[in-house]
Amino acid sequence: MDEISLKALAKINLGLDVLGKREDGYHDVRMIMQTIHLYDRVEIKKTRSPHIHVETNLYYLPVNEDNLVYRAAKLMKDEFQIKEGVRIVLQKFIPVAAGLAGGSSDAAAVLVGMNRIFNLGLKQNKLMELGLKIGADVPFCIMETCALVKGIGERITPFAMPCDFHILLVKPAMGVPTGKAFSMLDFEKCDHPDCNEVIHALQQGDLAQLSSVISNSLEYSAFQLVPEIADIKHQLQSIGFEAVLMSGSGSTVFAITRKKELLRQAEKRFHNKTYFVCCTAIKQ
Ligand code: ATP
Repeated sequence: MDEISLKALAKINLGLDVLGKREDGYHDVRMIMQTIHLYDRVEIKKTRSPHIHVETNLYYLPVNEDNLVYRAAKLMKDEFQIKEGVRIVLQKFIPVAAGLAGGSSDAAAVLVGMNRIFNLGLKQNKLMELGLKIGADVPFCIMETCALVKGIGERITPFAMPCDFHILLVKPAMGVPTGKAFSMLDFEKCDHPDCNEVIHALQQGDLAQLSSVISNSLEYSAFQLVPEIADIKHQLQSIGFEAVLMSGSGSTVFAITRKKELLRQAEKRFHNKTYFVCCTAIKQ
């Protein structure tokens, strides 16, 4: 096999608690992460020349080592002394700087894809270990599951939950740089969800209970940076969605419901504005 085409799936955070800052600069977190069916397309082709060549449909994304797909390919080449190169075509559909782990998921797809086309025979655990060198969300993106995630993102405990609901994503034009949201974090003022309560509500499929327990420590700082996020959240709540929360460090807000008609109402409400609006579902 000389080439492969993979879906790089996005995630949402059904709860995000920042516990504190570590000496190495990373933050200790507890998160409930769920893979969803919004994805980028990543095509990887072996080349005779040793170079890594990246192309993407988004003109403003870097195509050098600043792109996470480039970093993932370089890591695989260096670790396993791969002489050949790769041509990576990245079609982005996941919005950028959105709290949906788009870049991390693209990197995860490159690790998985290169493992296959170069017949490296690496197990998922090894790929996740390599992924952590690229970014804290990469190991989760390799697993593509629903899980309680601890540490900086490397301690992943999957759990099962029902999935008979719809998810709406709404993102304002402006994104939130993850580093900025963390640097503005105020531990006194921000929310600290109890992830065990969130898991319990999810497993019961109890959206009313879920809405009373989900929160995200980074919302407070993201709201300061992009006030439109708070406005979107309030609008989605007023339409009647059962559970509404910002994902990751923003700027996407997701809303959960079992009522299909609410999706249509929300699409109408946000139509013709500069928002990214997308109905999706969780990956089982
Ligand atoms: P997270 O949820 O993990 O915080 P995010 O969705 O907020 O991620 P991304 O879209 O993954 O953020 O990345 C945002 C930044 O990373 C941008 O500054 C962008 O230039 C850079 N970047 C590097 N590679 C990629 C990529 N493949 N896709 C998107 N952004 C990338």
